[in-house]
Amino acid sequence: MSQDSRYETVIGLEIHTQLRTRSKIFCGCPNQFGSAPNTQICPVCAAFPGVLPVLNREVLNMAIKTGLALHGQIRLYNEFARKNYFYPDLPAGYQISQFELPIVEQGELMIEPEGSPRKRIGITRIHMEVDAGKNLHEGIQGASWVDLNRTGTPLLEIVTEPDLRSAAETGAFLKKLRSIVRYLEVCDGNMEEGSFRCDANVSVRRWGATQYGTRAEIKNLNSIRNVMRAIEFETDRQIDRIENGEKVIQETRLWDANQNLTRPMRGKEEAHDYRYFPEPDLPPVQLDPARIEAIRATMPELPDDKFARFQKDYALSDYDAGVLTASREMANYYEIALRASPADPKSVANWVTGELLGRLNKEGLEITQSPVQAESLGALTAMIHNNVISGKIAKSVFAHMFEHGGTPQQIVAEQGLSQVTDQGAIEAEVDKILAAHPEKIAQYRAGKNQLLGFFVGEIMKATRGKANPGVVNELLKNKLAP
Ligand SMILES: [Zn+2]
Repeated sequence: MSQDSRYETVIGLEIHTQLRTRSKIFCGCPNQFGSAPNTQICPVCAAFPGVLPVLNREVLNMAIKTGLALHGQIRLYNEFARKNYFYPDLPAGYQISQFELPIVEQGELMIEPEGSPRKRIGITRIHMEVDAGKNLHEGIQGASWVDLNRTGTPLLEIVTEPDLRSAAETGAFLKKLRSIVRYLEVCDGNMEEGSFRCDANVSVRRWGATQYGTRAEIKNLNSIRNVMRAIEFETDRQIDRIENGEKVIQETRLWDANQNLTRPMRGKEEAHDYRYFPEPDLPPVQLDPARIEAIRATMPELPDDKFARFQKDYALSDYDAGVLTASREMANYYEIALRASPADPKSVANWVTGELLGRLNKEGLEITQSPVQAESLGALTAMIHNNVISGKIAKSVFAHMFEHGGTPQQIVAEQGLSQVTDQGAIEAEVDKILAAHPEKIAQYRAGKNQLLGFFVGEIMKATRGKANPGVVNELLKNKLAP
């Protein structure tokens, strides 16, 4: 991209997270996907006259949890508001949301963009709201369907301050936020399926300017990669306009991933005047501080705390601690492997971040789908630590476990891979190799020290890698001494 260094990009995000409650936000219908259209609905979902919404208390708990995780102020008195607009997938003609008094304000999230220092990103607010249904435009000639199954799905909208300055920072922010909502188990974080959706407000300004430029709101971003690409495109587009003496228009634009560009959304869809007013069918929410403290006490260890603990307790680098705490499942895997091994934490970390993740990435598998169980990987590093097998043989045992299953103990026993540490057996091999290369012995004794490696290599080859390298080196040095 031809990002112009005379300008800086300013980005703020609005993220909609679908909450993983069992039932919907205002009725008892199941909160689940993939059912036949309009089978998960009731008169509340379909907004029949006279029905009344009742707030699902679990939605409130999840909102508080998320607010605490993002270090926000939890508003003890907050209220719902009606956001009025017409759309076929919204039978009530309004969306129940929060407006002036949201449940969370003034939070923050620390990000670690690759190659840059840690940075604080402000969270303006988090509010609860309800999702709409879906219009379906396929399958019938000249008409559209409305599926209300999604109506009533609880959402948290998380709004950031305009603190982000690049596509890379935005990517780091979204990854971190997604990891937190997954740690909290409030949202599955799946952008492709729309349970974690993001709109980006993007503007540019000259370096040093104090005023923000005019922003465009980008929608239809269904992966972190697409968010980043859209920001790069939009930055260039806006700079081009300014450089050509044109104005940037405040508008909503849609990201087109196939053509790699943003284009304006058609006019009338965004000419909204929502006429918010307090929701008359729901009482204001009054929270007891004791409830917030009770929820705080059940919070899991979050990525930042885990990161700090992994560095402190296991002496891991930023990189290792970052990779191993990227998800709760990853961190659990590592700690289970570690408990099964007397090896040092760094070498167990190397096996997880190197051999295991390398192989999982290659096969397109998640850590939860790993054919090698954490206990087995721990046992493998224990066998190296205890000189039962060499690091090299461990790699082939690992490959065997990955492809065929089994424990390292079984595989090593079945294939006779145990390291030979018996001095006498190794010495016999050493003598054999030395007897075959008298001229190399002479060269070594004449000062060609690097030939030691040649002898070690020959002996390892003869023992199929099973000779203990420490014993081999010791014996060779003694026998080759002049
Ligand atoms: Zn319902």
